[in-house]
Amino acid sequence: MLKLNHHPAGRHQLAIPGPSPVPDRILRAMSLPTIDHRGPEFADLGFKVLADLKKVFKTEHPVIIYPASGTGAWEAALVNVLSPGDHVVMYESGQFAALWKKMADRLGVTSEFLGLPGLEGWRRGVQADLIEARLLKDTQHQIKAVCVVHNETSTGVTSHIAEVRAAIDRAKHPALLLVDTISGLACADYRHDEWGVDVTISGSQKGLMLPPGISFNAVSPKAIAASHSAKLPKAFWAWDEMIEFNKTGYFPYTPNTNLLYGLHEALDMILGEGLEQVFARHERLARACRAAVNAWGLEIQCADPSVYSPVLTGVMMPDGVDADQVRKIIYERFDTSLGTGLGKVKGKMFRIGHLGECNDVSLLGTLCAVEMGLQIAGVPIKPVGVNAAMACLAN
Ligand SMILES: *Cc1c(COP(=O)(O)O)cnc(C)c1O
Repeated sequence: MLKLNHHPAGRHQLAIPGPSPVPDRILRAMSLPTIDHRGPEFADLGFKVLADLKKVFKTEHPVIIYPASGTGAWEAALVNVLSPGDHVVMYESGQFAALWKKMADRLGVTSEFLGLPGLEGWRRGVQADLIEARLLKDTQHQIKAVCVVHNETSTGVTSHIAEVRAAIDRAKHPALLLVDTISGLACADYRHDEWGVDVTISGSQKGLMLPPGISFNAVSPKAIAASHSAKLPKAFWAWDEMIEFNKTGYFPYTPNTNLLYGLHEALDMILGEGLEQVFARHERLARACRAAVNAWGLEIQCADPSVYSPVLTGVMMPDGVDADQVRKIIYERFDTSLGTGLGKVKGKMFRIGHLGECNDVSLLGTLCAVEMGLQIAGVPIKPVGVNAAMACLAN
């Protein structure tokens, strides 16, 4: 908690998997005065961010920006392409998939969860063969959409979206493919057009390094066509007016101007470094983090190395250890925030974020705090994790 008159020396170590630390460059860019969003200057900003966003989503088609958190963009995706009672198949990869499903149910869509039994599904990637088998059984094409989470932030698993696309194609099924990459974008490779995704949902406060407050829908021509006949009520979230206004660099209602300044700066940073370099940097830090967890003798939540997340690492606690108690010690003693376990894994694990504005030394700082905190908490570990991460990074 932020207390008045409480000024700890140095910076707080924000090592949760979003919101991620906001670089000074972005904070400064956002501090410029707010301009008239209908004035002559604004269109330059609008055009620039809308064009550069397409490069990050790897799409030639429109990307829509909402002044909302990621949850708003989830809702936008569903209400633009679905009608009341439509059947959708969603994949249970973790807590974010579960929350998205709950939203679909609240909107009046008939949703069905596929997944592996028990907690297995929370430790592995999306099983495309389960999706294929389900679609093959749907000979009447009742299923209108398949919804999956690319980077499951509650567990630290990054699924192969191309495999999901291939499964839908093998089943020769016309369902739309909706993908949440709120925490994957600008951290892990993502290809909206090449992977045949119809709606990609993302947000500002993870890989894009911005504060929370804006979110995105990247939309395919097939999704836009579906939006013309979809019957769920939509007004604020409707794509049609957005797409029309965006053609001139403007927005139908007041955009989040200062966050767009920040977005402009973030896109310059990311495209300046190079997307592929950004992905490689995330992979490298993730590898070092996992080296530490392995050396401590703790288990990683993701049980399949082919889908380890470059964004975050879920660390499981031995039986009988409350992960939130360990987090509390690390927060109080070392001014370091780690992600809590969510949903089914609450208290059983914590999450280390290594996304966005993160480098070798900031990751090592976090790992030092974790190693010390685990020992103070009396968790039986081998205190050699930081050394293992350093060896990995120095290599
Ligand atoms: C953060 C996140 C969300 C939720 O976004 P909000 O900005 O909190 O509304 C949804 N899905 C995933 C995968 C996320 O990481």
